[in-house]
Amino acid sequence: MLEKVILVVCDGLGDRPIKDLGGLTPLEAANTPNLDSLAAESECGMMHSLGRGFVPGSDVSHLNILGYDYEQYYSGRGTIEAAGVGLQLSDGDVALRGNFGTINDQLIITDRRAGRINNVKALTESLDGLEIDGVTFIVKPGTAHRAAVLMRGKGLSNAIIDADPHKGDVSIRDVTPIDNTAEASFTAKVLNKFLKKSHEILKGHPLNIERQRNGEMPANYLLVRGAGKYSKVPSFKERFDFSGCCIAGGGLYKGVASFLGMAVLDVPGATGLPDTNIEEKFRTAIKSLALYDFVFVHVKAADSLAEDGNFKGKRDFIEKIDKAAGLFKELSKDVLLIITADHSTTSELKSHSGDPVPILFRGHGVRVDKVAAYNERACTEGGLGFITGKDVIPQILNLFGTLHLTGA
Ligand code: ZN
Repeated sequence: MLEKVILVVCDGLGDRPIKDLGGLTPLEAANTPNLDSLAAESECGMMHSLGRGFVPGSDVSHLNILGYDYEQYYSGRGTIEAAGVGLQLSDGDVALRGNFGTINDQLIITDRRAGRINNVKALTESLDGLEIDGVTFIVKPGTAHRAAVLMRGKGLSNAIIDADPHKGDVSIRDVTPIDNTAEASFTAKVLNKFLKKSHEILKGHPLNIERQRNGEMPANYLLVRGAGKYSKVPSFKERFDFSGCCIAGGGLYKGVASFLGMAVLDVPGATGLPDTNIEEKFRTAIKSLALYDFVFVHVKAADSLAEDGNFKGKRDFIEKIDKAAGLFKELSKDVLLIITADHSTTSELKSHSGDPVPILFRGHGVRVDKVAAYNERACTEGGLGFITGKDVIPQILNLFGTLHLTGA
């Protein structure tokens, strides 16, 4: 009987054939005996996380894979980032993600990351709790130069443009509404006042004065983007009756998990970078089955390496995943193991793509097929065929025997 689930998502794992790899993808070129032997004990297939014809962003593809149709539950990255830094969201809150950047006296952005300042806690504290026109601003630090900003008050909207122009050497810009509602223009007006006031505070902040004295760039402006409006999301436990936890290095993935009410576990050495300790993550995942029904493990670096065009680095990182995946070979078949990706990232284009990704289901009751290699082409022959991200949770519930009967 199936009792528990481990879902491993290898970010950006899929790729396209690469000439310098002999016409193989990085996953095909990698030596992956463990993943291949897991595939041989599994039902395999291919997955389009959002469906055919979409190039998935990581946030929405994770929502779909975890059973939350992004069209219904996603209103902008800001809400997920806010959940990821531990903010408790309430109905009607508007959340934004932000960078501390540097602007000069002419209000030109001279560095979007303030020289990659690595700790902005003192700066966020000086802005946290500001109140403007009845709206409270809650500001918390993210990793390095990043922060999350929550606007709490009546009549707010996320129909506003990003204050962040997404590039440097240009002037900062005012937030403007993108629809004609009173809520959007009110939100834009209040946010502009906040950004102006925060610039005044940040300019004179002791940390920035000290930075300038040391020849460093002052983190004197908050560039915000990705506004999302929160409305209550039923938790993963409420919807699927699984107590869930997340093991990830990257903030976004912890954010997705927190957004769904999953516990976020801290694993030493889980960095979200190529140096991450995958073995420790997988070992912790297996141990966590004692406390949780559903363990979501995220491994980031295959995606980042492909975005840098580093297909050999991606291949080598996949071999590191494979080595750690040896731990799963001893896993009881009472645990449903799923290994997949959120999307493909092509090393040639250095970007996400709409190509499907391999997926395997290993555990009691699955119809083991003839696929004996875990990669983009071998898995096309698998019993699952081509599925979408939205099919994953129903497929799990079906295997557990808890999917509701349709008809009589
Ligand atoms: Zn991704």
